[in-house]
Amino acid sequence: MKIAETCRRTAALLSIAATMSGCDRFVERQVQKNLERIDTAVLQDPGLTVVLCGTGSPLPDHERAGSCTAVIAGGEIFLVDVGPGSWETVDLSNLPTSAVGTVLLTHLHSDHIGDLGETMTQSWIAGRPEPLEVYGPAGTAQVVEGFAQAYAHDVDYRVTHHQDAFMPRSAAKAIVHEIATPADPTGSVVVLDRGGLVVTAFPVDHRPVEPALGYRFDWHGRSVVVSGDTKKSASVVRNAKDADLLIHEALVPELILRAADVAEKTGRTRLAKLARDLPGYHTSPVEAAEVARDAGAKKLVFTHLVPSPPNALARRMFTSGLSGIYPGPVVLGEDRMRFNLPPAS
Ligand SMILES: [Zn+2]
Ligand SMILES: [Zn+2]
Repeated sequence: MKIAETCRRTAALLSIAATMSGCDRFVERQVQKNLERIDTAVLQDPGLTVVLCGTGSPLPDHERAGSCTAVIAGGEIFLVDVGPGSWETVDLSNLPTSAVGTVLLTHLHSDHIGDLGETMTQSWIAGRPEPLEVYGPAGTAQVVEGFAQAYAHDVDYRVTHHQDAFMPRSAAKAIVHEIATPADPTGSVVVLDRGGLVVTAFPVDHRPVEPALGYRFDWHGRSVVVSGDTKKSASVVRNAKDADLLIHEALVPELILRAADVAEKTGRTRLAKLARDLPGYHTSPVEAAEVARDAGAKKLVFTHLVPSPPNALARRMFTSGLSGIYPGPVVLGEDRMRFNLPPAS
């Protein structure tokens, strides 16, 4: 009664005619709309689906979460990196969050792991029945253990509140798989092979961050590659061979170096130093286009955008001048952008 009455008064303030029963129907429709927004059909899709759940970088951006790419295949959702804010973006992308079963970390920089605690906990609350599988480079076990400790009180509260039969404590945890980096700097290692889905990890060059990995997903003749953070890398070229989708990080050095100059001039020397250190371990759009061309990738998607492009000029700086280098389509990634790759045969 109170909801309908408040609704009627709000409508009156807005000079909208509304009856009590009309208000009731409106409230019910809103609840239903929210409940029905979840796209469970994506789990039945026979192809590969990719959703960008974080195209931002360590720099703050109202419209982009920290690094995250969701790959959906065979009824399971895999998250490559879970940067700050990315869990909310996964949920707002209407993905069925209880189907998030595996996280693959490219490296352990904060902009790639910040939402690991939320991912472990929220997918469990949503109904994930088994522990979360977390793959990553050496050091991943320490990161997972730290997040598990930080969220331990939360797990206690919820098991007590909802009972273990409904929210089993055993499913709240994560199982860690640290990946041994191949000795060959352009080699690869199979990290997961089940039901026709093969996920391989390969080393990339993000030094001094070592090891750093990229991932390739192969499913029913379709393939998606996520570069992770890297400077231009022969390993990405080799491991993205003929990929349908190459999701590559991108940094525009001209914008970053200009920002460093402005910071310097205005006395922000710390910021200037940080900015000037960035281009050395990232890839420019031109270099990423060369990688896509040399790999024979069919589509190039930019993510991990540095700097955050706040306007059309900055966005153009990522994509202009590439057509002479790479003949395929180039997409500037946006959060919640979705790609569907139907089975090849
Ligand atoms: Zn990094
Ligand atoms: Zn990063």
